[in-house]
Amino acid sequence: MTQSSQKNTQMVVICAPSGTGKSTLLEKLKQEFPRLKWSVSCTTRPMRPGEREGVDYHYITKEKFEALIAENDFIEWARVHSNYYGTSKGFVDQGLRDGMAMLFDLDVQGADAMKRIYGAQAQVIFIKPPSLEALEKRLRGRGTDSDEVIRERLKNARTEILRADDYDHLVINDDVAKAYQDLKTIVSSLLE
Ligand code: ADP
Ligand code: 5GP
Repeated sequence: MTQSSQKNTQMVVICAPSGTGKSTLLEKLKQEFPRLKWSVSCTTRPMRPGEREGVDYHYITKEKFEALIAENDFIEWARVHSNYYGTSKGFVDQGLRDGMAMLFDLDVQGADAMKRIYGAQAQVIFIKPPSLEALEKRLRGRGTDSDEVIRERLKNARTEILRADDYDHLVINDDVAKAYQDLKTIVSSLLE
């Protein structure tokens, strides 16, 4: 771990392989820390049941996404699990101008880009599943993705997990209550 922890952080990046439990933990964080403003990314992936346009993501076509890349609208963007995902520059800049601390959910490519651009100002918290077996069980148990999608996500998780120690903070999501306490302690210290 780089241990480049800092106080009064304006950018908190959560990074975890798909299925680790990031969304579950993020929901709790969003409720408990009103100073954190969720960075709504754009994606070309289809909306999952229960998700909402403009709340979870902006769901756009590949053509629209490519137009936004050309217009330089993204701080960073990446192709993840065969879809595009990108962080909107305008949305983040507005949040920072409003004095909010921005909260991001990014893959390792996005987390690396944030560290390259913002250095210690962006604090990355990597969340790791207890094992690949547990991860597969969670992805299947969630019941939102096809077998093909689950296999692709597991394949990517194998390489993403190798990066766990490269970031500022690490949380293991074995017991969800314990993981949330660990996450809350880190975020509280960053926002002090
Ligand atoms: P992500 O956002 O990282 O893709 P989710 O938050 O959707 O993951 O979680 C994937 C599935 O695993 C969900 O069904 C969720 O309820 C479950 N889950 C989350 N954390 C745990 C945990 N610590 N133990 C067991 N199941 C969990
Ligand atoms: P999901 O499809 O499960 O919502 O997200 C898949 C992956 O895309 C997750 O690892 C998530 O962190 C990542 N992701 C979501 N939004 C962005 C973004 O704007 N940029 C990058 N680089 N990754 C993102």
